[in-house]
This record gives sequence, C-alpha cells and structure tokens, in this order.
Amino acid sequence: MEIIKIKKSDWAGGIDKSRKTYHLFGPVKHKNHHIFRQLENNIYPDMEYMSSVLSPKSVLFPQSQKILVTSADASGKACHIFTPPEQDHTPRAVIGIRPCDAKAVQLVKLNFDTKEYQDPYWCSAFEATTFVGLAVNTPSVLDFSTSAGSGPFAQEGLDVLLVDCKDHYLAKILSQKGKEFLNTAGFNEKEDPKAADQVIQQMKISAEKAICSVIQTQHLKKKTVLELYEAPFWEDIAFSCISCGTCAYVCPTCWCFDIQDETQGKTAVRFRNWDTCMPALFTRHSSGHNPRGEKIQRVRQRFMHKLKYFDDKYDQGIMCIGCGRCVEKCPVNIDIRDICNLMNAYKPEKESDAGEIKGEIK
Ligand code: SF4
Ligand code: SF4
Repeated sequence: MEIIKIKKSDWAGGIDKSRKTYHLFGPVKHKNHHIFRQLENNIYPDMEYMSSVLSPKSVLFPQSQKILVTSADASGKACHIFTPPEQDHTPRAVIGIRPCDAKAVQLVKLNFDTKEYQDPYWCSAFEATTFVGLAVNTPSVLDFSTSAGSGPFAQEGLDVLLVDCKDHYLAKILSQKGKEFLNTAGFNEKEDPKAADQVIQQMKISAEKAICSVIQTQHLKKKTVLELYEAPFWEDIAFSCISCGTCAYVCPTCWCFDIQDETQGKTAVRFRNWDTCMPALFTRHSSGHNPRGEKIQRVRQRFMHKLKYFDDKYDQGIMCIGCGRCVEKCPVNIDIRDICNLMNAYKPEKESDAGEIKGEIK
C-alpha cells in the first residue's frame, strides 16, 4: 500500500499537469448547489463541496448519448447503414467523487458489463476513467451509506482515496490507474504507509460514527418475492407519489434508458436517453398494453428492484448506496429508508398474504 502526501499549495499545479493527459471532471458550484462537470482549463474541482445534485454517473452514461448514425445519401459508403459515431477514448479522471458514488458505478457495471453482453459505450468509458475519490469527513444527515454497503471512507470502485487533512491530502493508491494519475500530476511525496494509514483509520472511525441514519436489510434476502409483492403497504406508499421520476434521475445506481431516432435532412441519429420506471409511458407497449399502467405497480417495481430483485439476481447487496439524494429531492417525501425498513420487518398476517397467486398479478 502506498500513501502520498499532497500539500494543498501544490494541488492546483498537479491538476494542471494532469490536464495534459486526462479530461478532468469534478464538482463545481452552480447557483446554490454543486454539479459534476468537465473542468475546462481554468476551472478546478471544489473539494469543499458537501454533496452534488447528481452523481458523476453521466461521465460513463451520458443523459443523452448518440449511439448510432446513418445517412440516406446514396453517394456515401454508409448509406442506410447504422454505424457507431467515433468515440473519445482519451483518459479521463473523476476528481472528488464520493466513495458511495464510486460504489454505485460498480453496481451499474453489473448491468452494462456482463458475461453475455458488454455495452460498448459504457465499457469503453469505464476503461478510460480513473476515479479519484474524496473521503467524507463530515457526512450529511441524509447519508445512510454505512448500512447500505458503502461508507464515507469506503474504497470499492476507487483508484485513489483522498483524505482531507486540513493543509494537505493523504492519497491512498488503490490501483495501477490511480498510481498513474498521481504520477502524471506530479504527486509523489511518499508517506510512511503505516503511520498515514493510522491517521486515515482514525478519521474513518469518526466519520462513520457521525452517521445517524441507518436502514435494516438483514431479513430481505430470505423473504420471498411474492410475500413482499403482495404486502399491503404498497397502496399507502404509492398514494402520494406523483410519478415525476426525480428519484430515479438523481440516483447514481439507476440505469434505465430509452432509445429515440431523430432525422434531419438525409441524416438520422439514434440516441439513448436516461429514462425512469416511474411514469406510465415507460412500459407502455406499442400495442397500447401496459404491464405497469397503475402507479402502485410502478412504485412497487422501483423499490422491489432496488431492495429485493437486485440482490436476488446478483448477490451483491441492495441497489442503493445510501447517498440520500432521492430522500432529499422527492417532492412528496417518499423515503426509501422507511420503505426498506418496512420491507425488512414485514411479516404476512395470514397464509394468503404470503404470496399465493390468485388471478392477475398487478
Ligand atoms: S435509491 Fe436514493 S439513496 Fe439509494 S442510491 Fe439511489 S438516490 Fe441514493
Ligand atoms: S421522486 Fe417521489 S414523487 Fe417523484 S416519482 Fe419518485 S417517489 Fe414518486
């Protein structure tokens, strides 16, 4: 294990050096909040940020992405043949990503990079990206990452973990990609790894202690899908939902998308755009049939997917890293922590509530 000391006075110079090799992304202030975006030459990541409205998920999975192009121009070679547009494989580095958001990338990877199929757009972007995380010394009141399989100092999915120690950062190297990034930036002042790791461990303990919000998940795995599916609380939860989709758009682990073709003159472009399972249109078939036409079906789908189906399928815990964004942004205060605890504690009152299929499943 290598730990590098980066004096804050050297930080901007290192960022500038790394720009020659990497496209940089990082948190910047935008109006009253922070967003992740590409950092132009004179822009530096704001390492004092508390949280960002969206995670940097769009660095790998843009909100709107051109995936195929074609032309009806008969004089061109690719007339009527869809081909992928040229992709930019320049190395990129996401500076200041929160540890839980880096774990979210690993969960999304389970969907885009499988044994059977590798999404070429997501996978090539992932290959090109180095994740330089920033440990969270002061977690927000909505942070429940420690009970959702991550934490303020978690390392999963990171290439470097930066720890803010007032006048300097300690940079824990976690992969070859991380080492290369720090070398490129000229950060190479080695610390005694044992002593530096002790400092990091102390700070980790105190950050984890500051987290006051937890969810209970220990019984979810052994409950049957139908037991939870037919639980009576879905009606109440769905009642106030307005199907706005905000919870899905702000979620670092949501990956749903839609495909749209657009034409202009003789050129046609196929885009994929973020979409969400919350509005009814998402699942409406061209026949008019909609398997999730009712709101209760969609609300239940969202939470069953995140808290039950995902773990049943991948055995990697729940599909939520406890960032708290959906809790903060839901306009009607639907709170995944409450729903998770309800599902975890649910016991059917009678045999017929435990999942016997009667008639049509909603
Ligand atoms: S479900 Fe909510 S708390 Fe969990 S990762 Fe998504 S936005 Fe964050
Ligand atoms: S943010 Fe709230 S109201 Fe909007 S779709 Fe999600 S749960 Fe429903």
